[in-house]
Amino acid sequence: MLQKTRIVNELHQKFRYYGRNALHWKRKCILILPEIEKERVWEQKGFGSIHEYASRLAGISRSCVDDALRIIHAVEDKPELMQVIEKFGVNAVRPVATIATSETAQFWAEKAATMSKNTLETYVREVRTQDQSWQNTYPTGEDRHLVNQPLFEAEQLRPSTRLAKLIPMELDLEIAAELEKLKSDGDWSTLMKELLNARKQLLELQKPKPVNTTSRHIPAKIQKYIIQRSKGRCEFPRCNKKYNILHHTQRFALEASHDPDLIVALCAAHERLAHMSLIDHEEQAPECWEIREHTDTTSEKFVVDQIVMKYRKKT
Ligand SMILES: [Zn+2]
Repeated sequence: MLQKTRIVNELHQKFRYYGRNALHWKRKCILILPEIEKERVWEQKGFGSIHEYASRLAGISRSCVDDALRIIHAVEDKPELMQVIEKFGVNAVRPVATIATSETAQFWAEKAATMSKNTLETYVREVRTQDQSWQNTYPTGEDRHLVNQPLFEAEQLRPSTRLAKLIPMELDLEIAAELEKLKSDGDWSTLMKELLNARKQLLELQKPKPVNTTSRHIPAKIQKYIIQRSKGRCEFPRCNKKYNILHHTQRFALEASHDPDLIVALCAAHERLAHMSLIDHEEQAPECWEIREHTDTTSEKFVVDQIVMKYRKKT
């Protein structure tokens, strides 16, 4: 048995080592693809196309070649992002390739170098949403210089509009009739807000008391309450992914307390952003949260977050 375990471990170590090196050299090939394309090297060496050249010499697929060329062309004038590609591959900058400008390249390169693709995609979405609400708050005028400029310059000055979404619902006839009666002459949003507030009040009555303890394990009744409150979804505003973790917004290491008001269900990407100290007002309800552009190094949570992040890998 021990012998078998040793063989498995040795094979795994070898495969991982070779794989890591294969990835390293593949990245190097991908990085010079734009030059290969520009000089039409494949033509001069007797290949039918750059796709055939990359496939036969480096095992790189057609879609991978096209994808890599598109991303590299988008960022080749931004050395900060090219350095990230060199270290982590084209996928690392994919979420920011078309939005980064020369002015914001350094900012996005730092984020791309420390976040997984999934976390970076989520972060881009949150910053974009926040910038849009920023525009609605400060659309014009002299106040502009008082606040941070948005990272998405192209989206400035969009006229403020009331956002609405159509949700198709299949309801029992009785429920539909009752709801229509309740709506009366008002609108659906007002009625739904009323129902949501009633749900909040009901949950408030069922809320368990905070538990102060040295045990990191969240008591079952508190876990059950948070999952009931979130319906098992991420509680970050507008995120509808399944929750991945129950997150202490004040960090258990600092408070030694399991308070249902200070624990939220989060998906992997939003939990990662929280531990990167990139969410402001975490101690308030999620609807008050704001995404930060830079890590909050002044918060006492920062030290705890640094330790947590040390144990997490980028990918
Ligand atoms: Zn989420």
